[in-house]
Order: sequence, then structure tokens, then C-alpha cells
Amino acid sequence: MIPPYRGRFAPSPTGPLHFGSLVAAVGSYLDARAQGGEWLLRMEDVDIPRNVPGAADDILRTLTAFGFEWDGAVLYQSKRVEAYGDALARLQRSGLAYGCACSRKEIADSAIHVAIDGGLAYPGTCRNGLPAGREARAWRLHVGNERLTFVDRLQGEVVQYLERDVGDFVLRRADGLFAYQLAVVVDDAWQGINNVVRGADLLASTPRQIWLQRCLGYPLPAYAHLPVAANAAGEKLSKQTMARALCTDMVAAELLRALQFLGQAAPGDLARAPVAEVWSWARENWSFEAIPHRPLIILPV
Ligand code: GLU
Repeated sequence: MIPPYRGRFAPSPTGPLHFGSLVAAVGSYLDARAQGGEWLLRMEDVDIPRNVPGAADDILRTLTAFGFEWDGAVLYQSKRVEAYGDALARLQRSGLAYGCACSRKEIADSAIHVAIDGGLAYPGTCRNGLPAGREARAWRLHVGNERLTFVDRLQGEVVQYLERDVGDFVLRRADGLFAYQLAVVVDDAWQGINNVVRGADLLASTPRQIWLQRCLGYPLPAYAHLPVAANAAGEKLSKQTMARALCTDMVAAELLRALQFLGQAAPGDLARAPVAEVWSWARENWSFEAIPHRPLIILPV
């Protein structure tokens, strides 16, 4: 029997929701609802120094104003530290996670390859034990040297050589905080998420997450990476690129824009309709097939 669809939206409270986050929320929500599935909400506040005070509540208010209805209680990653610790302990016991003493500078000096997401691929310095007299600062996961592939529902086949492209990656940082990669995998499994629909900016992280799922014996969800909205310079809309916050006075118009961005043939006069009408159009007419199979779409100015 195929388990019922369970999807999620997992914003980080690093600022207000902007158009890019709305696209991920709309895409994941409609994909779930169109398949009679559940849609859970998770606040990814594990990276405490990056959280902006009040942003989590502001995100919840915005989602409510936009008419999103999530299933169950919101899960806060900041309350899940014990579960991440348990997962790390399992990986340590099985010898897959190891302590690493390297500083950022040491890695920069010794790394040969440039990692897929712009950082440095860890060269494996501490993989076979800490150098004498050094202490573990962070915990890393051994990656296999195989070719990791998966088929994304939108972006097609993705291939990564984890060792070359990212290297042994961090599970627990030198400041003691758990890394997003570990938290997201532990929570997706714990919440029973079997469909992940999110922005294509996370496509390059997915092989790491699949590797972690394998190491922890978790089931593999299906993935669909939606196109990401970018400015004319090709930069993803984010707080860093000064994306404006969503306007809750223009909910129907913003929703319509997100639907059209996702390739849906939503009629322009919905911009002036009551929000409930936009949603009923969207639920009845949602077409996953119409979503552009592209990682990036430049927004017209
Ligand atoms: N918290 C991540 C973000 O806001 C999303 C993670 C995910 O959907 O897996 O970019």
C-alpha cells in the first residue's frame, strides 16, 4: 500500500517571508492538497544566531493571512536538539561520524576542490583520527566515494560525487549547534514526510541529505525542486538580495503572481478576487506538469 502523501513547508525565521518563500509554500501546499495529502509546517530555527527575533511569529501570521492551513502543530527545530544529538550519537557509534579539529583557515589552506555550493570540499584531514594534541571542534560525516544519484520530480536526474563535490560534511558545528543537513533529515523522517517540495537552491544539498538518510536507515522521500525566483543579476531572492517582504494587503495579487510563476494558467482578474476564490481556483486547476523544469527564473522588473 502506498502511504498517504505527507508534505511540508520549512521556513527559517531569518526574516519575513518574501516572494521566493511564497513560491515554495504555494508549490508544496498545492502539491500536497491536490493528492489529498497533509501539509506540515516546521520552523527551521536550529541556527540560533541567524534567527531574527519575532520573525517566526511574523511568518505564521503571514501564512495565516495568505490562507494557508497546516496540519498539526508547528514543529520548532530549536526544541529538537535531543533528537539531533541521538542521531549524531548513532552515527558516532557506527563509526560514520568523526571529530574534526580543523579551523576554517586550515581547511581553506588545504582544500583542493571547490565544493558544489561555493564553499570548500573538506579534504578529509581528520578522517582517520585527530592529529596529536588537537581536540575535536566539529563533527563530520564520512561520505562514500560513490556516485550518488536521484531523480527529482522536476529537475530530473541529479548526480553528485559527494567526496569530490562536498567532502565529509559537518553535522555539529564548532559552536555546538547542529547543522541544517542533519536537522532537516532527522525531522523529515520523524514527521513522516514522504514528499519534499522546496526551492531549487536546495538541490545541491539533497545528495547529502540522501546520504544521511541511508546512514541513519531512514526512508527516502520523493523530491521536487521548484524554480527559484531571481533578480536580473541571476541572484536568488533572499534577504541578502533585499527581496521585499510579502504584502499582506495584496494577498490575492501576491498569490496570483506565485501561481503564475509556477506556470499555472491563473486568470489575471483573480488579483482582485477574495483570497478564498484564488485558493479554490488553485485547488481545482493545479497542474504539477505545468511547473517549469528550470532551477532559476529571472523575475521581470
Ligand atoms: N529552512 C530552509 C530554508 O528556509 C528550507 C529547508 C527545506 O525545505 O528543506 O531555506
